[in-house]
Amino acid sequence: MPLRTAPPKIASKLTALLTAVALAVAPASSALAQQAKGPPVIRDTEAEQLLREYTRPILRAAGLEKQNIQMVIINESVFNAFVADGRRIFVNYGALMQSETPNQIIGVLAHETGHLAGGHLSKLREHLAQAQTQMIIAMLLGAGALVAGARSGNPNSGLSNVGAAAVAAPGEMIRRNLLSYVRQQEENADRAGVKFLTATGQSARGMYETFKRFTNDSLFAARGADPYVQSHPMPAERVAALEELARSSPYWDKKDDPALQLRHDMVRAKISAFMERQDTVYRRYPLSNDTLPARYARAITTYLHGDLRSALAQIDGLIQLQPNNPYFYELRGQALLEGGKPVEAIAPLRKAVALSNNAPLIEMLLGQALVGANNKAYTEEAITILRAAVARETEAPLGYMQLAMAYGRKGDLAQADLASAQSAFLRGDNKTARELASRAKTRFAVGTPGWVKADDIVAAKPLPGQDSN
Ligand SMILES: [Zn+2]
Repeated sequence: MPLRTAPPKIASKLTALLTAVALAVAPASSALAQQAKGPPVIRDTEAEQLLREYTRPILRAAGLEKQNIQMVIINESVFNAFVADGRRIFVNYGALMQSETPNQIIGVLAHETGHLAGGHLSKLREHLAQAQTQMIIAMLLGAGALVAGARSGNPNSGLSNVGAAAVAAPGEMIRRNLLSYVRQQEENADRAGVKFLTATGQSARGMYETFKRFTNDSLFAARGADPYVQSHPMPAERVAALEELARSSPYWDKKDDPALQLRHDMVRAKISAFMERQDTVYRRYPLSNDTLPARYARAITTYLHGDLRSALAQIDGLIQLQPNNPYFYELRGQALLEGGKPVEAIAPLRKAVALSNNAPLIEMLLGQALVGANNKAYTEEAITILRAAVARETEAPLGYMQLAMAYGRKGDLAQADLASAQSAFLRGDNKTARELASRAKTRFAVGTPGWVKADDIVAAKPLPGQDSN
């Protein structure tokens, strides 16, 4: 299911914290403020799998392999990567697009893992709370001085000005203190990141190359809109220290494995094809470019723009070159499904499921094709596959939506209502979720597993960042 967007369940804490950091670092941050509702998430098995493989050895080197840390791709074209809750690493698709080699993005992931391993977020949170307290005390002291100035009976006595200065000066001091604290954390994350890269036999050159682009005096930073630059003060001395550290590694000159580079380029081609305008896609991947990524990008954009016959011919050409690539069959199935041919989509999606070791997002697509085929013979199989998929991939509303349709076709209205309620809940539509779950409760016998699940939804608090309507 390439590059569908889903509503995030990550928003409020993350936004609050990022906004706080951004305010501390760059008081006039507007880019982050615009994200107040939380950016949508991109779901794609191929891209997520690649990012997991990039991150896994780093997390192991950091002693975090047991934490089950998730990779989340954000639907934003600007460069950004960050950790938010100690459980997830967020990467904008723009960071992938702007990383020409695996090593460049792996370096950024190693740096972010450095933040995770150092527990920087909770420390920063404490530090921010302290700063806030200091700020409030400073304001109270300042207000006291202002009151004293006013009481002196002469508003121009100078005392009121002392009051104003008392407010401004500690504020500036606290801001600087925070800024230097954030910089210290950044340097620590750099050092930890290089350590993890070296421990896993990888070069830190990509991290250095990426961060050098963000140096405070570079043209890139001058654009000012990139959230990564705002949350990552990148003074020249930090980048110089990073360069020295990175060059001292025995792996400095190590190049990416060509097979990994190809997968990286395939994911970038896919992202370009799904996210960018068609003329941009053809500019990046002109017909004269016969590489696999270019052919992939053109096949995708051809299907997205409605030429199913040509797209299928191009996809078949890709399958001939890599007959065991699950994502080519996934693409074939998706193109057929969205082209209104669910029955024909079933075979390639079965193949994609098998080749991908039952990737749940692809199973959901197969479930969708089986349900869409409108043939009762497929109903039980669809239910089995979709139930397995939603058990492992618990945050994708599409799986529950298809499950609801399959149960509906079977005439099992209780399960259909429950699955619809779960889908609505994951979409953040709590009102619909509660209504459907209440109806499901009346259809189940009291105390059965279905009734309990429905009852949970009726009683559930909204997910973070969602309104409680
Ligand atoms: Zn950082």
